[in-house]
Amino acid sequence: MKTIHVNTGRSYDILIKHHILDEAGMYIRPLTKAIRAVIVSDTNVAPLYAERVKQSLVKNGFETSVFVFEAGESRKRLSTIEQMYSHFFEHHLTRTDIVVALGGGVTGDMAGFAAASYLRGIDFVQIPTSLLSQVDSSVGGKTGVDLPFGKNLVGAFWQPVLVLIDPETLHTLPEAFFRDGLGEVVKYGCIRSRSLFERLENEQAKDFIDDIIFECVSIKRDVVENDERDTGERAILNFGHTFGHAIEKLENYAGITHGEAVAAGASLLTRISEAHGMTESGTSERLERLLKKYDLPQDSRFSLDEIISATQGDKKSTANSINFVFLKNIGSCYLHKINTVDFKTFFAR
Ligand code: MG
Repeated sequence: MKTIHVNTGRSYDILIKHHILDEAGMYIRPLTKAIRAVIVSDTNVAPLYAERVKQSLVKNGFETSVFVFEAGESRKRLSTIEQMYSHFFEHHLTRTDIVVALGGGVTGDMAGFAAASYLRGIDFVQIPTSLLSQVDSSVGGKTGVDLPFGKNLVGAFWQPVLVLIDPETLHTLPEAFFRDGLGEVVKYGCIRSRSLFERLENEQAKDFIDDIIFECVSIKRDVVENDERDTGERAILNFGHTFGHAIEKLENYAGITHGEAVAAGASLLTRISEAHGMTESGTSERLERLLKKYDLPQDSRFSLDEIISATQGDKKSTANSINFVFLKNIGSCYLHKINTVDFKTFFAR
């Protein structure tokens, strides 16, 4: 088993171990006085794993119920949170009880937000089952839901008490979901780990997936520990995301996954920063080659003009400038603020 300790306002461990799903209760028990546990999961994941996690919780003395919502980003709404609250109430969840998020990013974000807000906050555990959530969204304490006019516009910083990662769950993951996660994995290599990037180049990701998870989570831990509330360094995790979010929006959040959009955004941006001499030459070509190897997009069908316009309203933008993450070279990056009035000239090429 690999353990990563996270020292945020509330500190917690991330445990990476094969078949840890069946031992969830054993690892959660010492951390809580909870009598009841609610597993939150969606219609894709619950049939695969909810019963196993439930058995493990029951065996360790938790009265356990399961709340299942319909899978999909379109369900990441306050109305689903309200249904969770009803379930919590009907199952007599108290402030000292616990919520267990079992699933991908949507599940973790929503269960986390419900836990952050119900009775002004109860403990929760993350059990991420997709590559994207294992390497990225389950760590760092960002929770929330979408509003009709934008993604993740309502939420809270709420750290889990424990994160359990079972790499076995990746075996049941459809290829498209694996690629989705790989988009973020490549991002971690780009911004902080040349060695990860090189291994991705020289080996096949699936052959060293445990190491990939460990490396990405370690990087995220380091960044989040320095900037839990996302006011500084944490912005580097948004490499590729400003354009990525714009592309997702232009695609109406269908037909392209988050990781694919991030890959396309990272590639587009690096081509531009390199042309400006702000990224070591040869970097964008190398990035494109790696993305191609893993069947990730290096470009968007939308024009740069369309993408630029769609970046307005990005959550990461301040009133009149956007903080972009540029690569210095493979493995290191820096923030560069661009005034929105300078956009047209900077990105005109
Ligand atoms: Mg992301």
